[in-house]
Amino acid sequence: GTLQPAAYLPSLNKAQRTAVTAPSTGSLQILAGPGSAGKTKVLTTRVAYLLQQYKIEPEELVVVTFTNKAANEMKLRLSVIVGAATVEKLMMGTFHSVCVRYLRKYGKLINLPNNFIIADRDDCLAIIKRILPSILSSHSDDLKKELKPNLLLDVISKCKSSEMSPSDYRAQQAKVENEGARERMEAIWRVYEDYEAELAKDNALDFDDLLLRGLNLLQRFPRVVSKVKNVLIDEFQDTNGTQYSLVKLIAKASGSLTIVGDPDQSIYGWRNADVENLEKMVNDFAPVQQIYLEENYRSTGAILGAALAVVRQDTTRIPKSLTATHPTGSSVVLHCAPTAFDEASFIAAQIKHLVAHSGGLVDYGDVAVLLRYGALSRVVEVALQKSGIPSRMVGGHKFFERAEVKDLLSYLQLIDNPSYTSAFTRIINVPKRGLGEKSVKEILGVAKKKGWTAWDVAVKLAKGSGVVGLTSAQRKGVREFVKTVSEARGWAEEGKSVSDLIDLVCENVAYRAHLEKTQGPDAQERWMNVEELKSTNALRTFLAVSMLATDTETQDAKADKLERKVTLSTVHAAKGLEWAVVFVPGCENGVFPFYRSESPNEINEERRLLYVAITRAQGFCTLSHSMSRMTGATVSKKELTPFLSTVSKTYPTLFVKRLQKIGPTTRVEMARVLGRPAPSEELALQLIQAQ
Ligand code: ATP
Ligand code: MG
Repeated sequence: GTLQPAAYLPSLNKAQRTAVTAPSTGSLQILAGPGSAGKTKVLTTRVAYLLQQYKIEPEELVVVTFTNKAANEMKLRLSVIVGAATVEKLMMGTFHSVCVRYLRKYGKLINLPNNFIIADRDDCLAIIKRILPSILSSHSDDLKKELKPNLLLDVISKCKSSEMSPSDYRAQQAKVENEGARERMEAIWRVYEDYEAELAKDNALDFDDLLLRGLNLLQRFPRVVSKVKNVLIDEFQDTNGTQYSLVKLIAKASGSLTIVGDPDQSIYGWRNADVENLEKMVNDFAPVQQIYLEENYRSTGAILGAALAVVRQDTTRIPKSLTATHPTGSSVVLHCAPTAFDEASFIAAQIKHLVAHSGGLVDYGDVAVLLRYGALSRVVEVALQKSGIPSRMVGGHKFFERAEVKDLLSYLQLIDNPSYTSAFTRIINVPKRGLGEKSVKEILGVAKKKGWTAWDVAVKLAKGSGVVGLTSAQRKGVREFVKTVSEARGWAEEGKSVSDLIDLVCENVAYRAHLEKTQGPDAQERWMNVEELKSTNALRTFLAVSMLATDTETQDAKADKLERKVTLSTVHAAKGLEWAVVFVPGCENGVFPFYRSESPNEINEERRLLYVAITRAQGFCTLSHSMSRMTGATVSKKELTPFLSTVSKTYPTLFVKRLQKIGPTTRVEMARVLGRPAPSEELALQLIQAQ
């Protein structure tokens, strides 16, 4: 079934309608006042309107979203209006996926076979590791130490994003006078050149290539996109330079660009996103019609008030107006807990309370806990688990499923119980000890045949036994592994803490270096998870809790996929989304702003991040902070984030300490905010009161 404009236009406000029905030619910049004023809804509806009213063919539109998830959601909504068959034909997705589609179809024009493969970071690192030794062999030891694969990959990526080819880099190198610097650059361009050659040999493109080749294709063959009549882009405030160049090329033929964005929500500056693209667009696509959406349909007045108070403290920001269309509703809760553990229990209790008193209006699926960074999720997960509240982690793994957490858990399990074979197999070669799949299979085979545990076999091998044929390097690896685990087991028997055991293991096996080698820019975040794992005490209790967490997770996966669960997500991954109930734990200095932010720009980006978090909430928002938090084995004192301390002092009425009573009036209000039917008894009550 399809819907005609007459059916959906009346539900829009005037500014939204102007945006949706604006001429199909010409450019449009739709800016929300601070907050969420239905930008995505406008973009989606405009696509439908362009197709239906202006008779534009689906193949003539390009729609860019910030994530694949957002693209899928938009497709779903559009299917209801224009039908699934039309939606199928739309070019809709992230910048990367749009480029992939053009390249698959037209890559031949730039000598790119259409069956190219996409190399992820691990593939790219593997290539560099392969080519590095021969290039570095003639260089100094210092340079060998400095030029690690990860660093090289980052340098190459930077070059690529500023469109610098290996030969450009070489030309620059030739001009450098300092001999040391020149030698360093020479090594780099050789790696860069060979790396490109290797990718080409495998017929592979890395992520940077996807955008660059896309750019290259469109520069040389504009006719590829000559049919495009309008380009529509969501979350435009977070586009970077390369992406903007792409936009200009795709929209070149028609000059028609429709973007929606909100400068107050630019939170990807750390990845080179550039808010200035909003101004560039005004020049590059002149004349640009600007439309401001000033009515907020998502959140209650109270939530909007708190969010605005936070973002308004940024004095560099351009003030804009925004009004809530919903009633004030329940005040935002600002809760202070003595420890992170108490904070998490508080959240679990509040969730239970809300769901129980909402009269069936909200369930666990309506609740999100939004975190500044992934490691904060552990305490919350455990608390939810204890209260029997189901949850899922978005845009990543739940704490106990993360690779580094599993690695260390496996060490701990093997320390606790030598016969735990799956723990053994997970870590015998982590970090790499030259024991590939084949050797591990042999070890397991011998164990099975002789009725030993895999651990027994390793112990024998370490002592020099020949039950499995090993090279001397492999044997050395096994010996070190056995030594580490045995030593830690001794410590555990002496009653040393989990934190000490983790430290011992990490130090003996150089686990942090392993993360840096294999995880690149993610290493820091992953190391924080390891530190987080240390904030616990007795080994047995700890293993019991963590096993429980993983066990129920596997059950969950098998259970009904539609089960309504609490969403755990980083704020970054929650961009553009909304929930009836939102919790933001860790509202502390050092978390918001993240302790490594320094410059005013970075601090302001952190402030906007808190603003984005609060504006995800429709009906209830609870901000919480803890007076102490464990990082690694140390407890540190924490204070309320400066983003809230002044605000809460200046506007004491904006916040309350606990959730207020949820009575019939609140329920009716909430039903309206959520666009759901109010519980019928409440309606009856209201009617009686109205008489
Ligand atoms: P964000 O900046 O967070 O991405 P946004 O500006 O894209 O937000 P939307 O997600 O499009 O906002 O809309 C927010 C909510 O408001 C949605 O639930 C949407 O359905 C609703 N909404 C938007 N416009 C209207 C309207 N005219 N009438 C009723 N509800 C609306
Ligand atoms: Mg949006």
